Amino acid sequence: MNRPTLAVWKFTSCDGCQLTLLDCEDELLAVAEAVEIRHFPEATRKDLPGPFDVSLVEGSISTPREVERIKRIREESGLLVAIGACATSGGIQALRNFADLREFQRIVYPHPEFLASLEHVTPIATHVDVDYELRGCPIDKRQLVGLLSALLKGRRPDLPKGSVCND
Ligand code: SF4
Repeated sequence: MNRPTLAVWKFTSCDGCQLTLLDCEDELLAVAEAVEIRHFPEATRKDLPGPFDVSLVEGSISTPREVERIKRIREESGLLVAIGACATSGGIQALRNFADLREFQRIVYPHPEFLASLEHVTPIATHVDVDYELRGCPIDKRQLVGLLSALLKGRRPDLPKGSVCND
């Protein structure tokens, strides 16, 4: 029998939420046996094509290329789960939404003209439909394991109110 396919994606983020998934140790081993992991940059160099039954998405959207990429991932994913404060609300990098982006770029980079940044940093749900959201910086390990176990059993995960996006 084919195992469900899982992909973990990184956008603008610090990788901390992916590390939470790696930190699940025993639980992750059980998950790894139950699913076929097709993409998970912190854990494997494997980069297999979709479709993906479940996509976990870390990070916010801050470049035009990321907009195109998240749309492609949405098309290829059965369920899409935004994990962490970056993915669900923009995260710390969204603080630049309240400042002058051009000024920051000019101070930090010798050639800011080569940068392709969006004017504002936005959460995943600004660009595509999101099925579930796990909040926190980083996400809570037990919530993540609970969500994955429920999804793999075809059950609706028991999450705090507001975490289910397509009610
Ligand atoms: Fe890192 Fe926090 Fe963003 Fe997760 S939510 S990727 S821990 S900054």
